[in-house]
Amino acid sequence: MRIILLGAPASGKGTQADKLGARFGVPKVSTGDMLRAALKAGTPLGKEAEKYMSAGGLVPDSVVIGLVEERLGEADARTGFILDGFPRTVPQAEALSALLQRLGTPLDGVVQIDVDRELLMERATLRRTDKRSGQIYHLKYNPPPPDAELEHRADDREETVKKRLDAYDAMTAALLPHYQRLGLLKRVDGVGEPAQITGRILSALGKN
Ligand code: AMP
Repeated sequence: MRIILLGAPASGKGTQADKLGARFGVPKVSTGDMLRAALKAGTPLGKEAEKYMSAGGLVPDSVVIGLVEERLGEADARTGFILDGFPRTVPQAEALSALLQRLGTPLDGVVQIDVDRELLMERATLRRTDKRSGQIYHLKYNPPPPDAELEHRADDREETVKKRLDAYDAMTAALLPHYQRLGLLKRVDGVGEPAQITGRILSALGKN
């Protein structure tokens, strides 16, 4: 199972990537998670990436392509992967195609999770993470327990979210037609319970 999940920030893409990864026994490969880990570890790559991430911009293609090439070369990704947050540009998509061609492992599909902008803003600005467990909560829809140690991702603040949504719209303007031309694009409605949305993704992929 080799799929790309596309969806704006707070579209539920990360949650769906976790669920699909568990279901098919393949890793979720999230460039956002890898970059945040590099940032936390204070590596040179993390420090470089922070400049772009904290401003809500995109990290340069060469940096993320390098990360993904390395990650997809690891043993657990040989049987498949759920790509979350990559590719975000046409050059990244082309680098990925070239890599998968070299590995002889084509994509099964590209799934776009559709959620309207107003709901995305509300989801992101009220999203909180428990520092200890990494569990994600929503102050309105999925309130955290009283003892949670909550963290608000710096890039989930309103002004930054707006920029990230604009960057996402600009990105998909080129990326969606790219995958449509290749006959790989499926679109699913991302409003509903997570399990329901997983069901929609599986039917779009013809895997249920
Ligand atoms: P995410 O968790 O996927 O929303 O990613 C958080 C931030 O990491 C983004 O706002 C970008 O700054 C950076 N990032 C993650 N993936 C990519 C990518 N494929 N290309 C460029 N920047 C990325």
